Amino acid sequence: DEPKLKQFYIGSIDQGTTSTRFIIFDGTGQPVAQHQIEFTQMYPQSGWHEHDPKEIVTSVEQCIERATQAFIDMGQDISDIKAVGITNQRETTVVWDTNTGEPLYNAIAWPDTRTKGMVRELKAKGGADQLQDICGLPLSTYPSSVKLVWLLKNVEAVREAYDEGRLSFGTMDSWLLYNLNEKKEKSIHVTDATNASRTMFMNLYTVDYDDMLLEFFDIDRTKISLPKIVPSSSPDAFGSLTHGPLKGIRITGCLGDQSAALVGQQGFSPGSAKNTYGTGCFLLYNVGEEPVISKHGLLATIAYDFGGKRKPVYALEGSIAVAGSGVKFLMNNMGFITHSHKISELAASVEDNGGCVFVTAFSGLFAPYWIDDAKGTIFGITQHTERGHIARATLEATCFQTKAILDAMERDSGHKLAELAVDGGMSNSNLCMQTQANIIGIPVDRPAMRETTSLGAAIAAGFAVGIWKEFDELKAINQKDRMIFEPNISKEESAKMFKKWGRAVEMCRGWLD
Ligand code: ADP
Repeated sequence: DEPKLKQFYIGSIDQGTTSTRFIIFDGTGQPVAQHQIEFTQMYPQSGWHEHDPKEIVTSVEQCIERATQAFIDMGQDISDIKAVGITNQRETTVVWDTNTGEPLYNAIAWPDTRTKGMVRELKAKGGADQLQDICGLPLSTYPSSVKLVWLLKNVEAVREAYDEGRLSFGTMDSWLLYNLNEKKEKSIHVTDATNASRTMFMNLYTVDYDDMLLEFFDIDRTKISLPKIVPSSSPDAFGSLTHGPLKGIRITGCLGDQSAALVGQQGFSPGSAKNTYGTGCFLLYNVGEEPVISKHGLLATIAYDFGGKRKPVYALEGSIAVAGSGVKFLMNNMGFITHSHKISELAASVEDNGGCVFVTAFSGLFAPYWIDDAKGTIFGITQHTERGHIARATLEATCFQTKAILDAMERDSGHKLAELAVDGGMSNSNLCMQTQANIIGIPVDRPAMRETTSLGAAIAAGFAVGIWKEFDELKAINQKDRMIFEPNISKEESAKMFKKWGRAVEMCRGWLD
């Protein structure tokens, strides 16, 4: 019952692509204290995108400190925080020296396309088509595998460490768990199944590393320390916070950000789906306890793995590289707006897109198209084009790709989605969500509390320490004041817009470098 649940608190570390957050939730799923820090995005060359792994650890530590201080200032007691969960940007790749714990290069962030040429070569070598049947992912610049291969080929310190058997590899979850635990005495080098399923090294059926996959990328397991793959919810696999104000509290949940959002939206039954509009946009569709390998450009991935008697649950995923980052592009590069939230106002300054279609292929196009060499292109510019039209076209780009993904999901699964649950920074835009409903022709359902990614990690952590035992117990969480956007244009109108988008996608292929 509510009064009792409110006495429990769970901390959630949300290490996203552009910012880090720490949120303390009460047992009813309400955030009671939080802190957020944006960290440096590095773009050293066109198509390159890096983060400083140490800055990220510091940002996590600072968020924990500040949010905990706010919690204490409210008169709360730290001993009521029962566990901490982690959720993180996926695929982003970190390598460090096993002996010293020092990173050997910046983290290569997931949208980075430096591996474009290498991916082309790997595809030409043959055997690439079979990989997807094992790991669920098509070969592209997106997974961690190609990022690691690039590091081994191009960074001497990484190669040396590998040759000398002291190279550690991890996605952001592994790096954080390693650092939040007392790394030198008792090294924790683990990853949860959802994060591991994005590396391209994991077999979806065995939920373990696969020799054939490692061999394809020429990775010798004796020379590299790969994180041990464990369930996303576990009382003892992730260690504990060994320093800072929450010292001693166990970390008991770990999920890749999109999996965490699915859990946070309670997408526990097969057929449920959520779409998260953050830096990129990711639609996850729960397919149950057997993976479905896509024939239509989607990814197969682990949705979540709560361990114990529960089997891992799989999802079909549509990944869109650019969503909120398109809004940031208009703000930072074009100077169209001063804050992300002003995009709606700018878009509302015109009636429609004025004939403009913006294929925001800044790092190629991901699902369901997978065009590595596509470049961002605006079609339909005339003398009448204003900033407002471009703003609308930017928001619409994500909505169109979501429609293409839903069509692919329908073909892969044989089911039509009835409504779409949404969250993430860009879902704050009512105009964008109404546009989304219009383009997909089904209602879009947005919760009032949109920190669903953080909530998902808190749920995974809470399950491991017995705060909840069954998914049913979560039913009341985050149901209040949801907003439903009903489609309000005709099917013909929406089909016409989508056709134009399809033509624009075809035309942005193969732009010369
Ligand atoms: P991430 O976890 O990937 O860092 P978030 O879910 O925090 O992403 O979302 C941040 C993104 O959402 C930014 O790219 C930002 O431009 C965009 N965003 C934030 N608020 C709004 C808004 N009101 N309208 C449109 N876009 C927004």
